[in-house]
Amino acid sequence: MMDVYYSGDMDNLPGILVRKSKDPDGICCILSFENFIKNIDPQDKPVILPFFDLLINRRIDKFSETYRRNTDKKSFIWVKCNAKIGKSAEEGSNFIIIHEMDVTEYKEIEIRLRANHAEAESMRQIAAAISASLNMNETVSRILEETQRVIAYDTGTVQLLHKNELEVIGGVGFSNKNAVMNLKFPYPEEGSLSTKAINSKQPVFSNDVTVDFPRFVQPDPEHPVCSWIGIPLIRYGEVIGLMALDSASRGAYSPHDVKLAEVIAVHVATALENARLHERAYQMAMGDALTKIGSRYRFQIEGRIMVETARRSKQSLSMIMFDIDHFKKVNDTYGHIAGDEVLKKMAEVAAGELRTVDLFARYGGEEFVIILPETESKAALTVFNRINKRIAELSYKTVPEAVTVSAGIYSAVPEGSDTLESFVIKADEAMYLSKNNGRNRVTLYK
Ligand code: GH3
Ligand code: MG
Ligand code: MG
Repeated sequence: MMDVYYSGDMDNLPGILVRKSKDPDGICCILSFENFIKNIDPQDKPVILPFFDLLINRRIDKFSETYRRNTDKKSFIWVKCNAKIGKSAEEGSNFIIIHEMDVTEYKEIEIRLRANHAEAESMRQIAAAISASLNMNETVSRILEETQRVIAYDTGTVQLLHKNELEVIGGVGFSNKNAVMNLKFPYPEEGSLSTKAINSKQPVFSNDVTVDFPRFVQPDPEHPVCSWIGIPLIRYGEVIGLMALDSASRGAYSPHDVKLAEVIAVHVATALENARLHERAYQMAMGDALTKIGSRYRFQIEGRIMVETARRSKQSLSMIMFDIDHFKKVNDTYGHIAGDEVLKKMAEVAAGELRTVDLFARYGGEEFVIILPETESKAALTVFNRINKRIAELSYKTVPEAVTVSAGIYSAVPEGSDTLESFVIKADEAMYLSKNNGRNRVTLYK
């Protein structure tokens, strides 16, 4: 077996006494290969030993690797080893020349940097999750999943704060997510860790909830939570909810984990706020502010889908357009507030006559449109007559006279080049016949 000509900056190679020599080559000692490898960490041996194999078999001349040397059962040092093959001149036999350097300090810095890099990457992913998706549930799930890479938790929830309770709106890690979703916890609650986090606007963590809050509600009694981090979600100084990270192990969290969770919670709070704003903007775009029925935008979006659905299912689709008669005169005579009352009341009574599957929208100023899926012209006419009767019966606070409408109906099974637009053109054409023929009437497109 090979000998190892060993040198290095260590006085005491673990398990092997190294004699510091004044040898000009810096050789401290000569030892057997078995002795040399004795204290290499078992985790690193499978990686390192093949290099020695290659060296001994002259497949490579030298190599440089870093591994752990165990100093006793619990601790180790990191060493960087430069190894090369040597040959003694007189005998022609081979030996290995090894220089080992203690690099524990550098290695620890490297490991820390690498961990920070992983954290930075997770933070980047979390930020991306927020901008990529505006759907609240999806965003919160993605953030929690990403968080799991940097904080070893088992289950995590995001909870929205209402007046008297916290409501779970997102969770990861649960075997039965449905049982957790919409779960509610009382707020405020005496002694509760969540309440403490919310009221102090500061993270709270416990490495044993059974001691710190014995009444802790266990969402999944089969996997009881032991360690817990609760971080308040704060937007514009107000607590809007709580992010809770649970672990089944005792003593799972360090202050560093709490710091990380705190940074992530800022993103979660932003995501919640974005989702709320998006939801509101969406509602505003889809609805008409005055009449509370659908907007023209909603009509375009949902109407197209309804036409395509009818085409595929070969079902008849009806469109009713109606326009208030002489509405300009109503405005001119009684004022715009009066005109608004007419618009609102007409929309309200018409909506009351429709099914939930029907689409009712304000097409323009005093023009309304209805799409009735799976409806033929005769049935559409009946629907309109019902609406028209209700409109005729309306009385207004601000307008002392009846206001009528003119309508046009187009019904067909969409085929060929039929589109939402072609339905509009035909229903509109029929409506203008009603106008031209004296108003306050309905015309079926022929
Ligand atoms: P026609 O019978 O031919 O439909 O006559 P008209 O007066 O109803 O039609 P015209 O297009 O001349 O006038 C429509 C009026 O509707 C003009 C516009 O000021 C009014 N209008 C549109 N939107 C609103 C609204 O939101 N509120 C009020 N008060 N009036 C509106
Ligand atoms: Mg009009
Ligand atoms: Mg009009």
